[in-house]
Amino acid sequence: MKRTTRIIHSGRSDEGDGLVNPAIKRASTVLAPSTAELYHPTGTRRHYGRGGIAPNAELRAAIAALYEADACALAPSGLASVILAIRTALKGPGEALITDSAYGPVRRFCDEELPRLGVTPVYYDPRIGAEIASLITSKTSLILLESPGSLTFEVQDVPAIAAVAKAAGVPTVIDDTWTAGVLMNPLDMGVDYAVQALTKYVGGHSDFLMGSVTARGGAARAVLEREKLYGVHVSPDDAFLALRGLRTLPLRLERAEAASLEIARRLEAHPRVSRVLHPALPSHPDHTLYKRDISGAAGCFAFVLDGIPAKAGEAVIDRLKLFGIGFSWGGYESLALSCDPQIKRTAVPWKAEGALLRLSIGLEDIDDLWADLEQALAAC
Ligand SMILES: *Cc1c(COP(=O)(O)O)cnc(C)c1O
Repeated sequence: MKRTTRIIHSGRSDEGDGLVNPAIKRASTVLAPSTAELYHPTGTRRHYGRGGIAPNAELRAAIAALYEADACALAPSGLASVILAIRTALKGPGEALITDSAYGPVRRFCDEELPRLGVTPVYYDPRIGAEIASLITSKTSLILLESPGSLTFEVQDVPAIAAVAKAAGVPTVIDDTWTAGVLMNPLDMGVDYAVQALTKYVGGHSDFLMGSVTARGGAARAVLEREKLYGVHVSPDDAFLALRGLRTLPLRLERAEAASLEIARRLEAHPRVSRVLHPALPSHPDHTLYKRDISGAAGCFAFVLDGIPAKAGEAVIDRLKLFGIGFSWGGYESLALSCDPQIKRTAVPWKAEGALLRLSIGLEDIDDLWADLEQALAAC
C-alpha cells in the first residue's frame, strides 16, 4: 500500500460503531473489576491514563504506519520528542556527534544536559557524509542528524551516515520534521530513530504542540519503554488534532512545495537577494542529494539579503503585512522571521553576505504573498 493510502486508512475508529473518526476519551483513572485485573489488565483495557487512552493509540498506529515502523512514541512537544529519542538511543557516557545545523533548543539541551550524563557533545559539519567515520571513536555514544537543517537547510547524506554508524555500532537519531515522514523515510535509510515535530506539518493549523519518535525492532521497544519510564504523556484532544491533520498532510505538502518553490524562484531573481536556501532549487549546494533522497518540499526555507545587515533585515520583516512574525512553521498561515545562524554554529561558522530571513509559506494566494514580499524588500 502506498503512503498516501496508508495515511487515510490507518488509525481509524475500531469500536464497530461506524464512526469514521475515533472518539476523544479523557482519563487518568481507569476502574478495574478486581485487584487482579487492576494490576494485570487483560485484552485492550488500560490500567491508567498516562500512556493515553483514545485517540492516542490510533494516532500512534497512523504515524507508525506512515513510517512503516513497529512503534511510535508521543511526546508533548517536538523538542521533548528529540530529547526522548536522544535519551533512548544514548549507549552510555562518552561523546555524542551532533549536526551543527541542529534545531537551536536541541543544541541547548546537548550543551547543558548531556555533560550531566557524562556525554560530551561534538558538533560536526552537516555535509560530512561518510567522512563522519573519521569522528567515530570507541567513545561515540550517539549520532544526531537533522535534514534539511534548521535555518540553513543543508541536506545531509542520511544513508551514508547511517551506514557508517551501523557498521560502528553507533545508534542514530534524525529530526526529519521538514520531510514530515512523507517526503523521505529515514527508517528505510537505516536510521534507528526518526523524530518529527508534529506541531509543524502534521498539525498544520498552529494550534497544538506534539512530537513523535518512530522506530523498528529493538529500538521500537526501547523508545516505548523510555516513554513510560519518563511519564511522557500527550492529551487526547491534541492527539485528535494531530490525527485530523495527518489525513490531509500529503495534500498540504504538495501545495507547500509548489508555493514555496514559486516564491523561492522569484526571490532568487530579486536584485536585493543574494542566495535562496531552498533544497528544491537547482542552485542549492545539496540539490543532487535532495533529488536522490527527498520526494518533495516543505514550505519553509530561507534567503540571504545582498549586503544588507541584520538590522535592515529585521526592518524588512517588520514591513510585511500578510506574513506574521513568529516562530514555528508548517501552519496554514505564512510566517517570517529574521535570524542569525552564527550564534549557534561551532563546527562550520556561518558566513553570509547579509541578513538571513526565514519564511514559512502558508496557504494564501501566491501572488498576494509575493506582492507583500516585494513591497517589504523595495524599501530596503
Ligand atoms: C519546531 C521544531 C522542533 C520543536 O518542535 P516543538 O513542538 O516546537 O517543540 C524540533 N525540530 C525542528 C526541526 C523544528 O523545526
